[in-house]
Amino acid sequence: MQDSSKDNNNQTRFKTIFELSPVGNKIIDSSLNILQANIAMVKLLGYDRKEEIVGTKILDFTPPEFHKDWQILQQQLWSHNSSSFSLESALVRHDGSLIRCRITSILFEEHGETFGYTTIEDVTEQFILRQQKDEFISVASHELKTPVTTLKTNIQLLQRLVKPGAVIDQKITRLMQGAVNGAGRLTMLIDDLLSTTRLEHGEVSLNKGWFEIGPLLELCCDHVALQGNYELIYAGDPSLRLYGDQFKIEQVIVNLVNNAIKYAPTSHTIYVKAETLDGMTRITVSDQGKGIAKKDQHNLFDRYYRVKEAQIINISGLGLGLYICAEIIKRHGGQIGVDSSEGKGANFWFTLPNEPA
Ligand code: ADP
Repeated sequence: MQDSSKDNNNQTRFKTIFELSPVGNKIIDSSLNILQANIAMVKLLGYDRKEEIVGTKILDFTPPEFHKDWQILQQQLWSHNSSSFSLESALVRHDGSLIRCRITSILFEEHGETFGYTTIEDVTEQFILRQQKDEFISVASHELKTPVTTLKTNIQLLQRLVKPGAVIDQKITRLMQGAVNGAGRLTMLIDDLLSTTRLEHGEVSLNKGWFEIGPLLELCCDHVALQGNYELIYAGDPSLRLYGDQFKIEQVIVNLVNNAIKYAPTSHTIYVKAETLDGMTRITVSDQGKGIAKKDQHNLFDRYYRVKEAQIINISGLGLGLYICAEIIKRHGGQIGVDSSEGKGANFWFTLPNEPA
């Protein structure tokens, strides 16, 4: 008797929270039918009464080009891959206007049936601000690219004008080399910003073909060999063939090797391993640096994400390198990740399908 009154109390409490929450709440079944909705949900969609929403399908309020988002949510949740899932999508309001929203769904079971408790937050304002920021970054990086390239080329030309054997003040030589290095770093930052904009706008196409890993690694590692401070050890069969966009895969490996140098400066040996696993080729770049805390590993591949440790903050970067790598690998149908524990180095890996799709 006491248990059932406790159950009733819990149910009333849940109902009150569900109804009064300022965030749109709804309960859906596995076919995305709306079984229950709170008033915030009704208002979010621009309606007045719950009856206008309950009994419909969430896809009725979703523009066709965003239906795939709900399919992803359905797949993730109802295949029981995870008990909760969150993504950003768009919904059409009663007056036809589009709102951007963050959808979070949590699965629960009742009488042997599975349901999704879903919250929907209007994030249209944040979306517009993000678009404006992206637009600014895109225009600014395009505008910066040409003068910085001219600057770099002109300094290199000046360097070449110095006749072999000419007596020239050491200080001038050093300053000129410093200017070339600075312009080189600027070019790399601008290229990362441009790549990000292109990826965001879906302007990146892949030029796929077969290539051998050995010659590619030599290309990727030339700059490391030139520095002289690091040794790159390749473990694997150099004649192993990969299928993909050679230039972009090179970009990924260079990025991972550069990060190993940047974030593990005391680790003088960097290992690159290539192997075939479960029908995929897996490339791993390993260092013996400080490694990465578990709490940061999840976000490393997000745009602009940087670890907030003091020693990392002092190393310059935009937090775009790994995001670009992840986008390139995803577009190849592969996966990317990191295995690391603090103080024990980092193993960044990616996989590529062995066969053309
Ligand atoms: P950036 O280098 O511009 O910060 P990245 O996307 O390449 O951007 O890297 C994101 C973050 O991941 C870095 O800020 C750094 O904290 C961490 N990181 C990347 N590679 C390593 C590594 N090999 N060892 C430790 N931390 C790393």
